[in-house]
Amino acid sequence: MRRPILAGNWKMNTCRESAGSLAAAIAEQVPASRDDVEVIVCPPAVYLDSVLSAASGSGLQVGGQNASDQDPGAFTGETACTMLTDLGCSHVILGHSERRQFYGECDGVVNSKTKKALASGLKAIVCVGELLEQREAGETQAVLESQMTGSLADLSADDMTSVVIAYEPVWAIGTGKVATNEQAEEAHVCLRTWLEGRFNSDVAAATRILYGGSVKPDNAAGLLSQANVDGALVGGASLKPELFIPIIDAGAATVA
Ligand code: PEP
Repeated sequence: MRRPILAGNWKMNTCRESAGSLAAAIAEQVPASRDDVEVIVCPPAVYLDSVLSAASGSGLQVGGQNASDQDPGAFTGETACTMLTDLGCSHVILGHSERRQFYGECDGVVNSKTKKALASGLKAIVCVGELLEQREAGETQAVLESQMTGSLADLSADDMTSVVIAYEPVWAIGTGKVATNEQAEEAHVCLRTWLEGRFNSDVAAATRILYGGSVKPDNAAGLLSQANVDGALVGGASLKPELFIPIIDAGAATVA
């Protein structure tokens, strides 16, 4: 049984006050004893500390949205993975399509960041997903396999206990265009099959694969009830407790 993960990617949103109050509202739903689902929020780096304070004592986990593949040193503007663990973060999102699209992150960079994150004690949420034109050209499977091959290069089966995959079709991110339940399930099966071939059946069975792309309370139950969808990476809807909490509930309903 894979425990569902509901993760919120706040992107470059919130301010100090709203980050703290949003985290507090979500933390209220996630007592330390909660063991049906895992809930993670990934605020902007400058608000990590206040969000960690708001989450303190609860079961809410906190992650970064990105981190450097370098050790601390002369890298202006960067955040080292060890700085995230030092603060108390448990996770880091890597290879989000916005990082790939706007900051030129290729699979090789995602791979070195993933290795650094794991070596620093973080769990990595590694994002993959196809562009609309790639889907329309029938290239989805090839794109996903190539991103997985590059992003997870050199990792061992053991390393994979600290890796979560997020399938985020780029055409569904922030667009309101959600993948159908069948499209999501088909992509997740493809990713799980790849995990079995690259690692083994235990890794394939244990690795959580999240769906991301315009997840909202009204489509969450359908997506999350797919056999190979183990949770959601949520952007816009994670910024409002009244939207994110029902998505957490939908995840919990799949294991009730
Ligand atoms: C995301 O940023 O990872 C995302 C899935 O965004 P949204 O839910 O807004 O589509």
